[in-house]
Amino acid sequence: MSALALTIEQEEIVAAVAEFVDRDVIPHASELEHRDEFPTSMVETMIGMGLFGTTIPEEYGGLGLGLDTYALIIVELSRGWTTLPGILNGSFIAAWMIRNHGTDEQKERFLPKLASCEIRASFSMTEPHAGSDVQSIRATAERTADGYAINGQKMWVTNGWRSGIIMLLTKTDPTTDPPHKGMTGFIIEKEPETEPPGLTIPMPGLKKLGYKGVESTELVFDNFQAPAEWILGGEAGIGSGFQYFMSGIEVGRVNVAARGVGVAKAALDDSLRYVQEREAFGKKIGHHQAVQLMLAKMATRAEAARLLTVQAAQRKASGERADLEAGMAKYFATEAAQENALDAMRIHGGYGYSLEYRPERYYRDAPLLMIGEGSNEIQQLIIARRLLEQHRI
Ligand SMILES: Cc1cc2nc3c(=O)[nH]c(=O)nc-3n(C[C@H](O)[C@H](O)[C@H](O)COP(=O)(O)OP(=O)(O)OC[C@H]3O[C@@H](n4cnc5c(N)ncnc54)[C@H](O)[C@@H]3O)c2cc1C
Repeated sequence: MSALALTIEQEEIVAAVAEFVDRDVIPHASELEHRDEFPTSMVETMIGMGLFGTTIPEEYGGLGLGLDTYALIIVELSRGWTTLPGILNGSFIAAWMIRNHGTDEQKERFLPKLASCEIRASFSMTEPHAGSDVQSIRATAERTADGYAINGQKMWVTNGWRSGIIMLLTKTDPTTDPPHKGMTGFIIEKEPETEPPGLTIPMPGLKKLGYKGVESTELVFDNFQAPAEWILGGEAGIGSGFQYFMSGIEVGRVNVAARGVGVAKAALDDSLRYVQEREAFGKKIGHHQAVQLMLAKMATRAEAARLLTVQAAQRKASGERADLEAGMAKYFATEAAQENALDAMRIHGGYGYSLEYRPERYYRDAPLLMIGEGSNEIQQLIIARRLLEQHRI
């Protein structure tokens, strides 16, 4: 479908993931999703395929593949169920941040475990009163004789309960102006599925419209003790947390864009099949021009979203500044997912509203993509700011 040329290696991996999705994910995802059940066996297959280590260098036990290949893998997984890349995303962002900003000890300690999925990771920035406005977070990490005492409340932490490390953004100096200069990231270690002293994780987590099967939790820190070695980047990382977390969010954005492509594609695929089965007024509904117009728009959106996403991933992978491209890809691809989900519902008529068909799931999963990893309003601001920067007169 795509005009983009893939390498043989990319083609093989994407084909293997596509086969897994067609065989093991699509037939079962809706059932698990309706039960809000963690997809244990699907995740085990993903671990076996090495997907948790996709972008981690081979020297740390990963596959050492580029961000563009990662994006293509995410497209395939999302075609089956967006929860699967959601489970992968925390580990992917954590690995990216540790690789780019961590100390040598942190790289040695965590990257092999993330690659093998011995531990999974979560990424925690949002608080009950602050999501987009990251600089107004209130969680603090205060220096003590033995390290840091962390206090505050986090919200919407995907994988918060099952993760073995939490990438946590705090304020180590709440008095700085601008506030980002006083922000520091920590790699909080914990046993998965337990609450260490000073940290409460209310389970079963927050109730959601979609994105089920993976927990989204609060984290309540009450005088939680963290050694200084847990600071992302060591002593040099003090005051750099905002910058480190923004770089994590930027690659996460490519993941979310790719999820949008997957949903847009899944909605199109289901519709293409359905219009050739369902009849109305003596012919297959795919022969009604009004339906054809919807199919044409859906396919165009899906393909444009895919091209923007892979372009953004390639640019980011090359080390170039990619906020404009990642912002455009995230914005366009996730809106495409939402529009295609609604069109798939229209095309499926009453069955589109039934839990027996998949469009209802796409319709519930797509809106999160427009909110997470920076809302689409924020993406438009990023795009516009960058354009004005590039075209200064
Ligand atoms: C299921 C789920 C999982 C999540 N997982 C995680 C996670 O793992 N880790 C994590 O840290 N967070 C996570 N989040 C949080 C998510 O990133 C935030 O919800 C998101 O950043 C938006 O923040 P907010 O909800 O506080 O909305 P707000 O920031 O309050 O925004 C509300 C509205 O105002 C708009 N708005 C805000 N500021 C501006 C502006 N300057 N200009 C124009 N419009 C603006 C927004 O676009 C939005 O429409 C998750 C959220 C959900 C729902």
